[in-house]
Amino acid sequence: MYKEEDEFQEIRDAVRQLCKQFPDEYFRKIDAAEAYPEGFVDALIQAGWLAAMIPEEYGGTGLGLTAATVIMEEINRSGGNAGAVHGQMYNMGTLLRSGSKAQKDKYLPDIAAGKLRIQSMAVTEPTTGTDTTKIKTTAVKKGDKYVVNGQKVWISRIQHSDLMILLARTTPLAEVTKKSEGMSIFLVDLRQAIGNGMEVRPIANLVNHETNEVFFDNLEIPEENLIGEEDKGFKYILQGLNAERTLIAAECIGDGYWFIDRATKYANERMVFDRPIGKNQGVQFPIADALIETEAANLMRFEAARRFDAHQDAGATANMAKFLAAKASWEAANVCLQTHGGFGFANEYDVERKFRETRLYQVAPISTNLIYSYVAEHILGLPRSF
Ligand SMILES: Cc1cc2nc3c(=O)[nH]c(=O)nc-3n(C[C@H](O)[C@H](O)[C@H](O)COP(=O)(O)OP(=O)(O)OC[C@H]3O[C@@H](n4cnc5c(N)ncnc54)[C@H](O)[C@@H]3O)c2cc1C
Repeated sequence: MYKEEDEFQEIRDAVRQLCKQFPDEYFRKIDAAEAYPEGFVDALIQAGWLAAMIPEEYGGTGLGLTAATVIMEEINRSGGNAGAVHGQMYNMGTLLRSGSKAQKDKYLPDIAAGKLRIQSMAVTEPTTGTDTTKIKTTAVKKGDKYVVNGQKVWISRIQHSDLMILLARTTPLAEVTKKSEGMSIFLVDLRQAIGNGMEVRPIANLVNHETNEVFFDNLEIPEENLIGEEDKGFKYILQGLNAERTLIAAECIGDGYWFIDRATKYANERMVFDRPIGKNQGVQFPIADALIETEAANLMRFEAARRFDAHQDAGATANMAKFLAAKASWEAANVCLQTHGGFGFANEYDVERKFRETRLYQVAPISTNLIYSYVAEHILGLPRSF
């Protein structure tokens, strides 16, 4: 809760301390240069924060998703953008939950030691969008390899990752009884794949979020890189998506608190009509409203993380947490910008940067409408609309 200590205080203090080395000016310059926050990410890796979810036997700290969400929250609350690194947490979780012992032995120690990064996950395709089961990228078994053909879009952090998790169809849609079957997930070694059947083209976009179009032309993946059982990949990806949604909910909570802190500070300091603007209830109430919404979303975020860590179905809570937190942070962003008046538009206040960054979470990793649809169909039992 806002300003209250909790059982994660030690983690919070340590992450905040690290983030202090990377103040607003650092992220402002990175944003202006459309660069990747390499120094910040290195510092997080060196401090072991990105290996938080890797079990101790593989060299990590063996923390759960709940603790991982606290790390992401604190990065955003400190003014940074965890979008540069959050992939590592949920992709590693997919490997951890669904990977074979051989895969874990091969990759996890190096990921924990910071020698390998698993920042990317390739699901979205240009022609099918949110209708994931219609993906057209195929992986066809030939001898001891899978041969991949197709296209992906909006695939983030490829240039700063060694490994990528790829979702592809292994059995045509027409041949499966359930449309969610017949897809598989693979570990793609980007160091070998790029230039050898995989082409990457960066997409310039609203936020400084490194993301790409990807083209596969007979990319060969060794069969040992299949994660879990063939044709069951969608199930594994969904578990990863629940972790992703919960982590992003926490980032939104961090953003929400950041906006509320900045709005409150400015409202206390800015004098207009011989009084601080925060003395006006027209300025106070929207900030109070933003705090109430953020606190409510925060409760759902902790419930989603708790369910995930307890290996209970976290689908509904993860979706709702992401929905509520993304809505709360976006409202807090609007309030913060409004409270700053014209200065909210000036880069040096960082409000416009965070405003753009938090807007993404209304759309990605899942858009608001699709969460409504999930709730309507899977919780309320209303008829499927598509
Ligand atoms: C910066 C960025 C980074 C990303 N990173 C990744 C990544 O690393 N890996 C990855 O796989 N993907 C990534 N994505 C993709 C992201 O997950 C998708 O953009 C998102 O899921 C929405 O899909 P879409 O863009 O295809 O929208 P579409 O599916 O085309 O939908 C467009 C709009 O129509 C609405 N809509 C569609 N169908 C319905 C319906 N039946 N009812 C009501 N409304 C509907 C949607 O809610 C949405 O608002 C990223 C996207 C962005 C912008």
